[in-house]
Amino acid sequence: MNFRHKCLNSCTAGAIHLVFCEEFMINIPKGTKDVLPAQSYKWQYIEDCARQVARQFNIKEVRTPVFEHTELFARGVGDTTDIVNKEMYTFLDKGNRSITLKPEGTAGVARMFIENGLASSPLPMKSFYITPCYRYERPQAGRLREFHQFGVESFGAGTPAADAEIISLAHAVFRYLGVQNLTLEINSIGCPECRKKFQEALKAYFESYREQLCDTCKSRLERNPMRILDCKSPVCSEIAAGAPKILDYLCDDCRAHFDAVQKYLQAMDIAFTVNPTIVRGLDYYTRTVFEFVSSEIGAQGTVCGGGRYDGLLEELGGKPMPACGFGMGIERLLLLMEAQGVPFPEPKKCDVYLVSMGEAAQVEAAALAEQLREEGLSAQFDTVGRGLKAQMKYADKLGAAYTVVLGDAELESRRVNLKNMRDGTQTELDLDDFVGAFQSIVLREALAALDTSDLDEADISTILGGVQN
Ligand code: ATP
Ligand code: MG
Repeated sequence: MNFRHKCLNSCTAGAIHLVFCEEFMINIPKGTKDVLPAQSYKWQYIEDCARQVARQFNIKEVRTPVFEHTELFARGVGDTTDIVNKEMYTFLDKGNRSITLKPEGTAGVARMFIENGLASSPLPMKSFYITPCYRYERPQAGRLREFHQFGVESFGAGTPAADAEIISLAHAVFRYLGVQNLTLEINSIGCPECRKKFQEALKAYFESYREQLCDTCKSRLERNPMRILDCKSPVCSEIAAGAPKILDYLCDDCRAHFDAVQKYLQAMDIAFTVNPTIVRGLDYYTRTVFEFVSSEIGAQGTVCGGGRYDGLLEELGGKPMPACGFGMGIERLLLLMEAQGVPFPEPKKCDVYLVSMGEAAQVEAAALAEQLREEGLSAQFDTVGRGLKAQMKYADKLGAAYTVVLGDAELESRRVNLKNMRDGTQTELDLDDFVGAFQSIVLREALAALDTSDLDEADISTILGGVQN
C-alpha cells in the first residue's frame, strides 16, 4: 500500500513524502524502549515466573511510587555513588519540591517499611517488586535510561541463612526460566568497623597512583576510596586490580558470617566463586554482596546484583534492622534468554473467530462472542464490516484455532460449521448450543494435550460435565 501523502506542514524535506514525515515525528526518548505487542508475552512470562518463585518463598508483592523525594536516594543510595552523583532524573515539581524518578527499588521499599510501621509486623518481612527504574546513563546494549527490575528485599533477618536464602531466590528464578551459564560471584565488604581499616589501606594504596586516576576517582579518593574499585575506566581498573583486598581486613564476626553464607550455599548446591573485587554500586551494603554474571550478553553482563544492607533502615530514620535483597535487570535477563535460545511459551491465541456476513449475522456474532468470553474463552467477531475473505485472513493473522461462518442461511437453519484451522476439518454444531458444544471441544483438546493416561472416559465426562455446569 502506498502511504505517500502531501505533507500538510511546510517541511523542508519536499512536498511528497511519507505520512510519518520524520520532521514531525516524535521519537521515543533516548535510552528507552517500547514493548511491542509481539514481544509483550516474553515480559509477561518472565514476570509470571518471578511472581511464581516469589510465592514459593512466601513473599508478597509491594508497589511504591515511581518518584520519591530526592533526599531518599541521596541518603539511601549514598551521595558518593555514580547513581546519585550523575545518573538521577531529578526535577523540581510545581510545588518546588525536589523529586527524583526511582533509580533503584530498595530505598523506596525501605521508606515504605518505616513509614507504615511494618517493623511491628511478623519478621522477617520479605517483599518483591517489579518496577521501572530511571538512570541517566550512556545507552548501550543492556544499559538503558528506563529499565526494569525484579527486586526482593528482606527486613529483619541478619543471619547468613537470610543472605543465602535471598541468593537462592535469584538462583531459583534463573533455574525456573531455564537460563544457563550464569556465574554467581560473592564477596563480603565487611561492617563499618572493619571497613574503616580497609578504607585507610585503600586510600594509602590509591594515593600513590593519584596522578593516573581519572578525575572522578580523584574525588572518590577523598570521599569514598572503595568506589574506585567499581570504576569502569581501564586505567583505574588496572590500578584497582592490585589494591588491598577487603577479605584480608574482615573482623572475626564478618569473617564468620561470610564463611557461613558459603556453607549454606554449598548445602543448597548453589555454585559460586568468591570475587574480592565486587563492591556494588550503592553505598548501603554491608557484609555479603553478590552478582550473577553472564559472559554472553556483552559488556553489561551483570544480570542481578544484591547483598546485605544492615545500615539502610537506620540511615533513613527507622529502627536499626538488618536487611538484604537484590535487583535483577529484566532487560538483561531477556537479552540473555534470547541469546541462549531459551523457549518462551507461546501466548494463547484466539480460540474462535466468528465470521459474519451481513448485519443480522454481525449482531448474532457479537452476542455469541460475549457469551464465549463470559465462559473464559477468547473470541473475536468482525467489527470492521469486511468481506468473507478479508475476515478469514484476519482470523488467520490472529492465529484463531477455529472459525465459524454466520450468514443468513445459518441464522435461518440455526446450524453452523465450526472449522478447525489447523487441520481444516469441519464439525456441524447447533447455533443455539454453540457455546457449550464449543467449550467441550476446547476442553477435550486441552485434555488430549495433557497426560490423561490415568483417566478413563467416565473421569473425562465428569470433568467435562463439571466444567459445563
Ligand atoms: P552496572 O554495574 O551494570 O552499572 P549496577 O551496579 O549499577 O550495574 P544495580 O544498581 O545493582 O546495578 O542494579 C541491579 C541490576 O539492574 C543490574 O545488575 C542490572 O541487571 C540492572 N541494571 C542496572 N542499571 C541498568 C541500566 N542502566 N539498564 C539496564 N539494566 C540495568
Ligand atoms: Mg550502574
